[in-house]
Amino acid sequence: MNTTTRADAQTGAQADRFKATFGAAPHGVWAAPGRVNLIGEHTDYNEGFVLPFAIDKRARTAVRLRSDSTIRLLSTFGDQGLAEADAAALTPGPVKGWVKYPLGVVWALQQHGVEVPGFDLLLDSDVPLGAGLSSSHAIECAVITALNELTGAGLSVEEMVRLTQHAENAFVGAPTGIMDQSASLRGARGHAVFLDCRDQAVELVPFEAQEAGLVLLVIDTKVSHSHADGGYASRRASCELGAQVLGVKALRDVAVADLDEASGLLDELTFRRVRHIVTENDRVRQAVDTLRAQGPAHIGSLLDASHASMRDDFEISCPELDLAVDTARAHGAIGARMTGGGFGGSAIALTPVAQEQQVRDAVVHAFAEAGLTRPDIFTVTPAAGAERIS
Ligand code: ADP
Ligand code: MG
Repeated sequence: MNTTTRADAQTGAQADRFKATFGAAPHGVWAAPGRVNLIGEHTDYNEGFVLPFAIDKRARTAVRLRSDSTIRLLSTFGDQGLAEADAAALTPGPVKGWVKYPLGVVWALQQHGVEVPGFDLLLDSDVPLGAGLSSSHAIECAVITALNELTGAGLSVEEMVRLTQHAENAFVGAPTGIMDQSASLRGARGHAVFLDCRDQAVELVPFEAQEAGLVLLVIDTKVSHSHADGGYASRRASCELGAQVLGVKALRDVAVADLDEASGLLDELTFRRVRHIVTENDRVRQAVDTLRAQGPAHIGSLLDASHASMRDDFEISCPELDLAVDTARAHGAIGARMTGGGFGGSAIALTPVAQEQQVRDAVVHAFAEAGLTRPDIFTVTPAAGAERIS
């Protein structure tokens, strides 16, 4: 089956399941992808630059508006059963489980003055959960795209980015920035999304790995270290302290050339945290220039430098991520780095097609030798952003 017919079959099966569950056909089906971050880690909350892309794995939501305020939600994932809520009585805090993502979006829309009636929703997603590919934002972006159209709210992409951020921060309770939903809402086939997190300015940058004889492998280590939340909070605190001592609004305003002077003003630990952010912002811009001028085969050393900076200066890697990156590099990847918040999750490895199998085998073998859980390894390509598909 080619990709189009497979997608059609998936959508058809979802519509059938919707009808069987809710007793009528959906008003439409909206899809939004997960994302992988090519480069630019922890730069988002420092008002800096990131370069993610929307991946070819996405959440699809079939939705039918109702005439009352009841919301009924079902996911094809797991056996969590049908959940019910009242659109007129949503408050942040008590909602548990996956439904906090769609309900958070409804709540954020209401906070923005959009009247959202009840609806029935069936979610079907192939974005892996908790692998650092933002399965949660895929859901939120599919839901906000659906509700924006169905309610006639007429929100701009910028507004949808802010509202999904508000949903994650204030309703779900996750202190995330704007990278994930920007990639999911604004992604385009064959392109990475160069995002300025200060003003949401976006440029699409060609990333055609396949045309350059490369694949981008994602290595999901399947680990999530328990200190991830505390580690994230303390990195944010260090960045805020660094910006305060250096007298700038955010670390985005510090240039690589300012680092010498900064080293005399900051304590040793804060300086290393600051140096990661400042050099990472620079690497994102270099990656964009390199992709435009020379193509993906030339960004390998930037990916490697990014990983070293996260491992040594920002200290957010872990043995499993280092093993994945080092093994991929040693067996043919032209560049590799951990991606996402750190302390577990996934690494990416830009790999010549001819070496793909060798890299996969070597990483699986190295994890087995080290007595670690077998990692999940798959390729991702830049795909379309959120859209109506039926
Ligand atoms: P990430 O966004 O990096 O994948 P998160 O912890 O932010 O990790 O989001 C994962 C959560 O999203 C899951 O615990 C689950 O609640 C929800 N989720 C993701 N995909 C699905 C799905 N297909 N069905 C139900 N819930 C899902
Ligand atoms: Mg998430």
